[in-house]
Amino acid sequence: MSAGRSRSLPALWRFLAPDVRPQRTLIVGGFVAMFAEVAFRILEPWPLKVVIDAVVAPGAASSPGIASLLLACACAVLLAAGMRALSSYLMTVCFALAGTRAMNAVRGRVYAHALRLSLRFHAGTRSGDVLNRLVGDVGKLRDVAVTAAMPLIGNCVTLVAMLTVMLVLDWRLGLVILACVPVFLLASHVATRRITRASRVQRAREGDLAGTAGETFGAMKVVQAYALERGLTRRFEISNDRELTEGVRATRLAAGLERSTDVLVGIATAAVLLVGGTSVLDGHLTPGELVVFVQYLKGAFKPMRDLAKYVGRIAKARASGERILDLADQDPDIADRPGATALPRPIGHVRFRGVSASYDDASLALDGVDLAVGAGERVALVGSSGSGKSTLAALLLRLQDPIRGSVEIDGVDLRDATVESVRSATAIVLQESVLFRGTIRENIRMGRPDATDEHVAWAAGVACVSEFAERLPGGFDAVVGERGDTLSGGQRQRIAIARAILRDARIIVLDEATAGLDPAGAREVRTALRRLTEGKTTFVITHDENEAAGCDRTVVLERGRIVSEAPHV
Ligand code: ADP
Ligand code: MG
Repeated sequence: MSAGRSRSLPALWRFLAPDVRPQRTLIVGGFVAMFAEVAFRILEPWPLKVVIDAVVAPGAASSPGIASLLLACACAVLLAAGMRALSSYLMTVCFALAGTRAMNAVRGRVYAHALRLSLRFHAGTRSGDVLNRLVGDVGKLRDVAVTAAMPLIGNCVTLVAMLTVMLVLDWRLGLVILACVPVFLLASHVATRRITRASRVQRAREGDLAGTAGETFGAMKVVQAYALERGLTRRFEISNDRELTEGVRATRLAAGLERSTDVLVGIATAAVLLVGGTSVLDGHLTPGELVVFVQYLKGAFKPMRDLAKYVGRIAKARASGERILDLADQDPDIADRPGATALPRPIGHVRFRGVSASYDDASLALDGVDLAVGAGERVALVGSSGSGKSTLAALLLRLQDPIRGSVEIDGVDLRDATVESVRSATAIVLQESVLFRGTIRENIRMGRPDATDEHVAWAAGVACVSEFAERLPGGFDAVVGERGDTLSGGQRQRIAIARAILRDARIIVLDEATAGLDPAGAREVRTALRRLTEGKTTFVITHDENEAAGCDRTVVLERGRIVSEAPHV
């Protein structure tokens, strides 16, 4: 997967839009509150102008209405401030809710997508990096959408509104301020590009870090047994330092932009005081209007300064958005063809016709394999390691598609059938069975999520799981760890077999299912396997001669080709 390639903002938007659109009520509400907030902010200084102009007028102290005028102005200030606070609160709540909901939907969508991606993709990508995109980058995008992108729009509106009022009040002063805007835009444009670039590198480095950490934690046994801690810590430190460098660069650029905006504000304020003071002396402006002006100046430049802050954060979020989009853009290589139909309830004939398969398009893992297996037949697949046995099984499950030839079940080319129906036709038991964190019962039920408790208990009995499960504290509801580390290999294997039994598939693949087990453990696993495969079309991938001898025939693979095929008598 490319490390965060540059994407246009419209492309990002097209990707996010389906999940943002359902939040439109909240977003519209947020905008209404935002416009109200801007309006009250614009109105706020005006009572001040009225008061100042009234008190500096000659004979103000003795004029009759002055006390009620002051009172009215004070109330107006209070009202405007109160309403502004309320609108601002509503705006934040609306945007936060909309942003959180939309981004959670995006995360769900990307996760579902990642699960559909082929094994080829996952083999070539570090899971920690994918995880980081899913959790870290989506989170970052959400925070920024809520706390920067929405306020940024509000700030732009405020800026435009205040500039308009200032131009109307005194166009010369207004122009002074207007002149600052292009300078700011130019500065922020340059800074944004550099921040995005630095953030892109930084996020890629972070993905790298997560990848390293993920690999390590996934193999703690090896790490500790081989005392790899120190070396791995070194490697982590190096990546960590690199990430830091880029992170600091991005932050430094953002801070630089903010400070240059500060300077710009200073220059503009000085200019306004100079030109404005002269205007009052000339009688173009009242003193009250000059005060309003200075207030607006502050009001207008606050958003500008915030803008600088937000622009930096948005640039960083864009890098995150690009990483999410990279993941979301990966095509699942294995997908239903248009017009694909479900495989009918299979009988169990399997046929490989001139099948070639490749992982890297350069070398062949399988090279023109022809093999026909009848329903209920039991075939041993033997051959040295790397000869292509597991690849053959992967083709049968459509974990990958052949680059030449075809695989058929009951005469139907698997590429014409839906992926789901193909996968439910075949059950596979691997050498290293994976259990998920949860109870034994839940782990077995994964074979068929709608199975009843009785059905699960029956499968557990058949697969010799009950024998040890009943002795565990909690029985079938005993929680097994991630990767099932609390159970022995044979016990894990039997749970996996129960899972496969529940699946009730016509075709079974045993990929070195008994390899690496101690003789006693293997015996029970074999019993369970015999029950699982009874009457089913079975592929037994094995290095064990006895096991192969128990099959109807043996197929020997060498370097991706079938070199001999011998029926057993
Ligand atoms: P076997 O199961 O007989 O040991 P495999 O089917 O796993 O053999 O592998 C066949 C060939 O394909 C080997 O040369 C192996 O290096 C290659 N191969 C297997 N899996 C992958 C993969 N995920 N990525 C790249 N090459 C692979
Ligand atoms: Mg293998």
